[in-house]
Amino acid sequence: MNRDLSRRFDGKHVLITGAASGIGKASALRFASEGAHLTIIDLNLDRAIEVVEQIKSLGCRAVVFQADVSQPETLRHVIDKAIKTLGDLNVVFTNAGIGGGAMVDEMPIDLWDRLIRTNLDGTFYTIKYAIPSLIKQPGNAIVTMASSMAGWDTSLRGAAYMASKEGVTGLTKSLALQLARYDVRVNAICPGVIETNLGGRSVEEKREAYAKFARHIPLGRVGQPEDVAAAVAFLASYDARHVTGSMLLIDGGQTLQSWSNAPVDTKAYPNEFNVDEFSGGTL
Ligand code: NAD
Repeated sequence: MNRDLSRRFDGKHVLITGAASGIGKASALRFASEGAHLTIIDLNLDRAIEVVEQIKSLGCRAVVFQADVSQPETLRHVIDKAIKTLGDLNVVFTNAGIGGGAMVDEMPIDLWDRLIRTNLDGTFYTIKYAIPSLIKQPGNAIVTMASSMAGWDTSLRGAAYMASKEGVTGLTKSLALQLARYDVRVNAICPGVIETNLGGRSVEEKREAYAKFARHIPLGRVGQPEDVAAAVAFLASYDARHVTGSMLLIDGGQTLQSWSNAPVDTKAYPNEFNVDEFSGGTL
């Protein structure tokens, strides 16, 4: 089969949640650069519109919906409208998520609820309402957003975040089994530290912490949103046709070492290195 590997998504309809910023934005632009039409769902309308303009400048169609992924009825309505506008879905990337954390005994109930409702319930709602469209055509794909915190790593104040992301990997594996009969693949990506606005602080505000962190990453650098976008595009593409139910770690080797939570020089913790510096408790 002759395939243009630089245009793997020509004419395909790709839906991404949380695509106004960071990893979701980089992924939207990656898919558009390979010919996809995009549906973007995000809380932040202004930033989402800027991404849509960039997608259109690449010659692709794009629609944007300001919506909260933790609201099932809104999601159902928005996904229905997206399909009516750009046709049946070929790829869904459930990327929208928030950070934040606290020690378990000090954790406000509201914080726990927000993390679970956005990161886990939002993933479920998006996929639930996308399935009827996705299963119409073999070869379609779902990519979910987990984290290196989902099984490989941990952090002191990350209980709620980790619970939400490990929930996503459980959902991903069961769904991969469920949708295999339709030749629809489902995989999760598990990024380590990536330079984004996650946790409510800008990349600039976290510059110093990133530099410190990079020294502890075997590949010597903190990840960029584009590093993750490339992996998302791979998993969504025909190149990954035999990959389903997998958890792809994208962390520069970060979790090969146990320093994240128990640095070699434990006296240095938390002064020399504190994983909670990046996102108020979680990544
Ligand atoms: P980001 O803050 O730059 O982007 C997140 C986007 O999601 C924002 O545009 C935000 O408006 C949107 N969003 C948040 N809550 C939403 C909701 N309820 N409904 C709709 N949109 C919502 O952060 P990011 O790092 O690009 O985060 C993307 C995903 O990557 C998250 O799920 C995060 O947990 C995951 N992740 C990030 C890292 C990292 O180090 N940055 C590591 C592992 C996993």
